[in-house]
Amino acid sequence: MYTAIGYAAQSATTPLAPMSFQRRSPRADDVAIEILYCGVCHSDIHQARNEWGIAVYPLMPGHEIVGKVTAVGANVSKHKVGDLVGVGCMVDSCRHCEACAADLEQYCLQGPTMTYATPDRVDGSNTMGGYSDSIVVSEHFVVRIPEKLDLASAAPILCAGITTYSPLKHYGVKAGDKVGILGMGGLGHMGIKFAKALGAEVTLFTRSASKAEEARRQGADHVIVSTDAAQMQSVAGHFNFLLDTIPVPHDLNPYLDTLRFDGVHILVGLIEPVDPALHAAKLVMSRRVLAGSLIGGIAETQEVLDFCAEHGITCDIEMLDIRQINQAYERMIKGDVKYRFVIDMATLKA
Ligand code: NDP
Ligand code: ZN
Repeated sequence: MYTAIGYAAQSATTPLAPMSFQRRSPRADDVAIEILYCGVCHSDIHQARNEWGIAVYPLMPGHEIVGKVTAVGANVSKHKVGDLVGVGCMVDSCRHCEACAADLEQYCLQGPTMTYATPDRVDGSNTMGGYSDSIVVSEHFVVRIPEKLDLASAAPILCAGITTYSPLKHYGVKAGDKVGILGMGGLGHMGIKFAKALGAEVTLFTRSASKAEEARRQGADHVIVSTDAAQMQSVAGHFNFLLDTIPVPHDLNPYLDTLRFDGVHILVGLIEPVDPALHAAKLVMSRRVLAGSLIGGIAETQEVLDFCAEHGITCDIEMLDIRQINQAYERMIKGDVKYRFVIDMATLKA
């Protein structure tokens, strides 16, 4: 064991504050990582404030981790000291169920071990995330950061990137498809870039007319202001796919109307009950599909990093001093960030 430092919430109602705690020494299959950058995901806010009802305190968020390997266990073959690596939302899974065998560790039938606020499978301790100077993770859950990528702007690919890439790939989005992205935050702005790179015609649905110009710069062909009923009506029956990153319950019915028959509305932002109720006829009468998707497996996380390097895709980030983390949460809730805060971990030592 060794002493690590980071920022954690002690309860759902207390701000994040510095904390020192014990990390394990590397096990035989572990990689120890000095964290250089960590992205700030809206899930971090949901969890720090126990909005999903599953938080465990102290809770140290952070699952968009990029850093340098400082030590490896005796059986590690995938990474070596000095390598630049990343860790996303998961740090372990059962590794033998049907999902794990299919490289879909996020759907592990026994439940994956998440990067924070989940019991470690070996010692039962509560996992602590990337708002920290270091982390120790089994090598299977550590990915390689391609040399071409800027380290800080690569961090959000570990969650915002893979979460939007995986469903677009799973549903086979291809050239000519019409894809709508709902919400332009951390996930949404990456969704625009990936859908565009896959050859789709991309439309952003946003509450904020002021984001229109920016969305076009990200690669969107069209922008629909979702609060304008006439604009929503203008795209009735238009889309093959909708990728919904909105982080709160919202009315799905007007969006379903914008899908073609056989169109698919993919939820990634919403894990609460749908409210107001869904009108089933909107699915039944047009054979539409309402789907969900959770991050992506480890192999696919490596694939999306390599895809970003190959296609020159980066996240738009605002560098954050960790001492400003609580103010950053408030700004994210107001939608006031373009489009991902990334903590410069050097500020933790300052
Ligand atoms: P952000 O806060 O960065 O962005 C969310 C965007 O949604 C905003 O920019 C805004 O876009 C829109 N939005 C925000 N509030 C509302 C509202 N009240 N009504 C309508 N639209 C709203 O969040 P992230 O991109 O980091 O995360 C999005 C969601 O995805 C979160 O719930 C997060 O927990 C979840 N998530 C899911 C994962 C998965 O595996 N399924 C993985 C990672 C995150 P605009 O201003 O353009 O309308
Ligand atoms: Zn996330």
